[in-house]
Amino acid sequence: MADDAASPEPGDPEPEREREGGASSRAGGAWLQQNRSLALGLGCVALCGVIGLDVYFMLKSDAKRGIPVAKSVEVPSVAPPPLPTTPAPASAAASEPGDDGVALDYESDDGEPHPGKAPPVPKHFDTVQHAALDSCTTASVDGLSRQIIAQARCIRPNAFVPLPSRPNLVVASQVFPYLELEARDHLLKAIDAHPKAKMTINSALRTVAQQYLVWRWSATKRCGVPLATPPGESNHEVGVALDIAEAASWRQALEAQDFKWLGASDRVHFDYKSSSSAGRTATDVLAFQKLWNKNNPSDKIPEDGRYNPATEQRLKQAPADGFKLGPSCSKPTPK
Ligand SMILES: [Zn+2]
Repeated sequence: MADDAASPEPGDPEPEREREGGASSRAGGAWLQQNRSLALGLGCVALCGVIGLDVYFMLKSDAKRGIPVAKSVEVPSVAPPPLPTTPAPASAAASEPGDDGVALDYESDDGEPHPGKAPPVPKHFDTVQHAALDSCTTASVDGLSRQIIAQARCIRPNAFVPLPSRPNLVVASQVFPYLELEARDHLLKAIDAHPKAKMTINSALRTVAQQYLVWRWSATKRCGVPLATPPGESNHEVGVALDIAEAASWRQALEAQDFKWLGASDRVHFDYKSSSSAGRTATDVLAFQKLWNKNNPSDKIPEDGRYNPATEQRLKQAPADGFKLGPSCSKPTPK
């Protein structure tokens, strides 16, 4: 029985070994008696070592599984793994807020050039005509436009009222956020009734100087403006028109507030169809005429609010950054 021979017989060699070990264990006992404190110390060191190794391997396996290591546990002998160095995506800088980071779905036939295409305003233009020839942004007549708006508000305070901010409302940077009072109030009702839907306004009030630019750009096929209404005729100039990027999703809500979608020819454009806006005067044109006459007393033009050749000729010569003498509300403002 090979198996039996290989197996140690229980009880047979052990007593022998015990006997052989008897003297040495007695000697070991004496040594322990003499070096008790040293033995205790060695035992402690061994125990601490075992615990330390356990902790080390436990942490190592946690780290491999991606479990964050508690900060209070210190493992001095193990160098911390290097932090992952993820390179910033190249597109991050381009999508920073403030860089006109609005995703625009913007195709307007009478609108301004796509804000993404429009360059920043690197230089100033002496006249509106030069701005029309050399710029592609209505911001190039910003100074004059602000004067026209302020003067118009002197003439008729409700003509252009500011559009307050709303959490779901985005107004593109080049937009003058003003509307006629009634149109403004109805727009706010639509916006507030759908607080979870975002509205991006790409054009609201446009002054006669701005309308002159987009009209020239469309006539000369510049700046990507395919079609524009002549100055003095645009509903944007009287504060009852809006260009909205998300036109399709807002159509129903705006129509419920008496805004009318212009249709496929200009699918971002809505007009407010208020009875009070019928027969309205072009307050922006009248404001320009007043500003011109104030600054050019020897070359006065009729203050009738009509965009005619005489007014257009002066508008072309007008300073793009604004007149020396600004708007004034000297007379009591008629209601
Ligand atoms: Zn429009």
